Amino acid sequence: MTTKLPAVGTTIFTVMSALAAEKNAVNLGQGFPDFGCDPALLQAVTDAMAAGHNQYPPMPGILPLRNAIVSKIEALYGHRYSAADEITITAGATQAIITAVLAVVRPGDEVIVLEPCYDSYVPNIELAGGTVVRVPLTPGTFRPDFDKIAAALTPKTRAIIVNTPHNPSATVWTDAEMRRLDDLLAPTEVLVIADEVYEHMVYAPQRHESAARYPGLAARSFIVSSFGKTYHVTGWKVGYVAAPAPLTAEFRKVHQFNVFTVNTPMQHALAQFMADPAPYLELPAFYQHKRDLFATGLAKTRLKLLPSEGTYFQCVDISAVSSLSESEFCLWLTGEIGVAAIPLSAFYGDGFDQRVVRFCFAKKDETLNAALERLARL
Ligand code: PMP
Ligand code: GLN
Repeated sequence: MTTKLPAVGTTIFTVMSALAAEKNAVNLGQGFPDFGCDPALLQAVTDAMAAGHNQYPPMPGILPLRNAIVSKIEALYGHRYSAADEITITAGATQAIITAVLAVVRPGDEVIVLEPCYDSYVPNIELAGGTVVRVPLTPGTFRPDFDKIAAALTPKTRAIIVNTPHNPSATVWTDAEMRRLDDLLAPTEVLVIADEVYEHMVYAPQRHESAARYPGLAARSFIVSSFGKTYHVTGWKVGYVAAPAPLTAEFRKVHQFNVFTVNTPMQHALAQFMADPAPYLELPAFYQHKRDLFATGLAKTRLKLLPSEGTYFQCVDISAVSSLSESEFCLWLTGEIGVAAIPLSAFYGDGFDQRVVRFCFAKKDETLNAALERLARL
């Protein structure tokens, strides 16, 4: 049989989590918290179900949640979206991204991805019949190289996918970088899919520069976020996309046949919970503590830490510890040391190996300490 995605196997996250379980390793591979969410959020779900919010919600999501998102984006980034026409609730960021791609990418269109990139982008573009144009982030620093991006733009370029804060490198685009992108795209009709799922996990002195802050970018962007990341509920699979009305109209055409809509009680609970901005405003301090705890422990090993400016990831250079490839190292680390990590090569189409692996520090302090005890051998 000819398959649509011949190069795609099981995602690295599934593979490494299964291996971590099999080897009884501390799982710092797949990105998800090992602690619970705020009990008030759980109570809000129970209350929503008891109140009878169990049937289909409106196709774009319930209005109170869309209103809460509008208020948040305006307060943080100074851009006011219309809840009616510009915000859509999605089944996580994953569905938001594939739906945006399917909504705008036509066969033969080129879409730029900046590698290393999240593993769903490339198959999404391929499913839409688009041509993937891979542009590397600068090796070593993972900063965007605007000369290379400019060189990749052609009359066929339909969109560019930008991810800040960035998975896997943990870099955060600066204001100057966002302006460069804005300037570069100004004379074009290129659309932006801005994957901002880690928007609330940015560590001082960096700040999250959402595409929503830049009118030129906001006018051409699908901005994607995920409640899973923000509220420690990755399994709920609820996110949203904010985009100008004409883009949202196209998005919803696909969304209604993709999932039609997203589970009702969680939407009510999230709408209620968002009324208080404290949980997401306090998130950087919460995660910075974990980042620093983990980094302080790792600094005693021969692993070389790369900067973690945002996200809940810490990348390390393994070259002083091992001559294995990244993938082999992660298998060895899981089996022999008892800690799972993700090779960065999994985020490159050609498996580029720069001797860097990614740990997730969205874990209880005791989990991080248990991992550090094992990693102390390195
Ligand atoms: N984009 C990036 C960069 C991510 O790291 C993730 C989560 N791993 C997603 C999208 C998907 O988010 P969700 O779980 O809300 O579908
Ligand atoms: N986004 C998470 C990560 O990068 C994993 C999501 C998934 O398992 N698909 O680790």
